[in-house]
Amino acid sequence: MHLPCVPLNKSLRYSSFYGANIINVDLHSHSTVSDGVLLPAKVAQRAHANGVQLWALTDHDELNGLDQAEAAAQELGMGFIPGIEISVTWSGQTVHVVGLNIDRHYPALAAGLADVRQGREGRARQMADKLASLGIEGAYEGALAYAANSAMVSRTHFARYIVAHGYCNSLQEVFDRYLGDGKPGNVRVQWSSLEHAVGWILGAGGRAVIAHPGRYKYTAMQFDALFENFKDLGGQAIEVVTGSHTVSQYEEYAKVAKRYGFMASCGSDFHSPTEARLDLGKLPPLPSGLTPVWHDWV
Ligand code: AMP
Ligand code: MN
Ligand code: MN
Ligand code: MN
Repeated sequence: MHLPCVPLNKSLRYSSFYGANIINVDLHSHSTVSDGVLLPAKVAQRAHANGVQLWALTDHDELNGLDQAEAAAQELGMGFIPGIEISVTWSGQTVHVVGLNIDRHYPALAAGLADVRQGREGRARQMADKLASLGIEGAYEGALAYAANSAMVSRTHFARYIVAHGYCNSLQEVFDRYLGDGKPGNVRVQWSSLEHAVGWILGAGGRAVIAHPGRYKYTAMQFDALFENFKDLGGQAIEVVTGSHTVSQYEEYAKVAKRYGFMASCGSDFHSPTEARLDLGKLPPLPSGLTPVWHDWV
């Protein structure tokens, strides 16, 4: 049985909206607008079919899918939160910052994201050159065939090509051998600053959330600095339950959220039916004692 992603000790406040005493929330997912494989409307349909009641589409660095996602969610009678996942470089590493409940028409957000996207095409060509020198030919064109447009080509698209052509058996193997941070096929790029990303999200009326904090290779001291910096800039939440965390990391980041006074978010980080570690809407509940980032949206 899959439990919805809600605290077990939830209040009646939520029930009054949904007519049940628990709701199923999934606030992190991708479509073909970035590196997912389903169109935004298809992601909405899958979320709904899996029981999601409050859903966010959070494509990487691109807002284009939100109108279609919202229309599909409305048709299905599913709660919708417009979202974004912004690529950030902080202290030499990539950090992802999710923005939730953003105004997609806020000019500084759209302009900032256009700048962030600019790095992708050149980086993709450089990654393809590196992969060629490692014996993987045709990766640029190969990756592009999986991407909706060259401005959004990502490591995921490369990884799909590399698996499809038999160089590796799984996406995880591609990241472990070639494309993960510090691996020989990866090219670092300077994404947005944390300050800008949080500023755009807050300017757009949204809440800023550090995505999958358990994925970053920071020391405890660096983590403290990241969370403090994020909080100082106005960041409000971190993901506690995500497809990128192990069960023990749910508890670990629940403690972090409490220590810093962050609200907690949860999301599958769904990209594809065949790649999902956690499918849409199949999340365990948030650990108790946390304030859900959506607490006053339902
Ligand atoms: P990029 O924005 O081009 O750097 O690509 C980052 C994307 O690669 C992430 O959003 C994930 O979808 C994917 N990714 C990163 N690490 C892994 C991994 N270990 N396994 C599978 N996908 C990964
Ligand atoms: Mn992705
Ligand atoms: Mn991410
Ligand atoms: Mn994501």
